[in-house]
Amino acid sequence: MIELRIPDGSDFTLANLPYGIFSTADRSPRAGMAVGKDILDLYALARTGAFDFDPEVFNQPVLNDFIALSKCVTSRARTQVQGWLREGGAGVVRPEHLVPMSEATLHLPVRIGDYTDFYSSIEHATNVGRMFRDPENALLPNWRHLPVGYHGRASSIVVSGTDVRRPLGQTMLPDADRPVFGPSQRLDFELEVAFVIGKESRLGEPVPIAETEDYIFGLFLFNDWSARDIQRWEYVPLGPFLGKSFASSVSPWIVPLEALEPFRVAGPEQDPEVLPYLRTTTPAHYDIDLRVTINDRTVCRSNFRHLYWSMRQQLAHHTSNGCNVRVGDLLASGTISGPGVDAYGSLLEITENGKRGEFLADGDTVTLHGHAGAGSSRVGFGSATGTVQAALNNQP
Ligand code: MN
Repeated sequence: MIELRIPDGSDFTLANLPYGIFSTADRSPRAGMAVGKDILDLYALARTGAFDFDPEVFNQPVLNDFIALSKCVTSRARTQVQGWLREGGAGVVRPEHLVPMSEATLHLPVRIGDYTDFYSSIEHATNVGRMFRDPENALLPNWRHLPVGYHGRASSIVVSGTDVRRPLGQTMLPDADRPVFGPSQRLDFELEVAFVIGKESRLGEPVPIAETEDYIFGLFLFNDWSARDIQRWEYVPLGPFLGKSFASSVSPWIVPLEALEPFRVAGPEQDPEVLPYLRTTTPAHYDIDLRVTINDRTVCRSNFRHLYWSMRQQLAHHTSNGCNVRVGDLLASGTISGPGVDAYGSLLEITENGKRGEFLADGDTVTLHGHAGAGSSRVGFGSATGTVQAALNNQP
């Protein structure tokens, strides 16, 4: 018999069971599942013969090999664990398989291959277009016809708790006639949710929109730190570059798509109607409450359902030209702003580009939170947190 420690309001109920990578003083980095205040050591459990696949997929510092077993296998393993835990371990899960989360270090859970960032919130795209371009034509003509995105940088994606150094970069100050190089003065966060690809697609073969969910392993919170002054000067005409690539923070637990099934909702109506390859008949959005705090003060409350473009549409569009995806690739939503200033997912929008408030200061801690449901059906993401460190003072 095992005793589960799942307090009221816990993100990690038996309805959730997200995957991560953890280590302790005597356990090397390996796969685990968050269960209330504990972590289920999946490697230790698998070595008892609990599953019908090689236990070594859990004895790795990343989840890629496990994810690559296919959704059919990973999903069955999760359902089995859920059943055992509901029966006090059922003689399969034993006390020595549980590790207090407080004693563990959490690691980046996947080896991320390629990372793509979308721009899928109509509120965010409108707010930014209004400030950076033309208030009368805030949305560019393509925006309602395709999920706009760009290829980001995977090497600088870090797990929650990692400090983020203020980047140095080139900026053009107002009324100046030449740029300067130095620490960004407009450091920002972006509230996003990203999904991890769980199945390889073939080069040259688009993934039909009806099949896209087979390719989505799970989701986590994603803070796409941004230097607005660097971004504004560099982004024309090829898009985001060094103003984005210095760091992004992810929450340590990947919530499997299956756990979010009860929270599936229809997205906003799309007008004009999208092209056939982007059309879906089933609801493809998820009702996930999102919140951002800076030094424990709430600055934003939004919801994943506010996105105009769904994950299905993002993936169908991404592969529509024949570009393949691989296990461990990351597709991020773009800033998720909702209607109203309380729901703006970046300081760029909250402060109206610095007119009504400050960007991030050194020492500020930004934390993203997310969850769906309540009580014993709550499916939470934990948090993605990071503290801003002062810039290097020596210029390269
Ligand atoms: Mn972004």
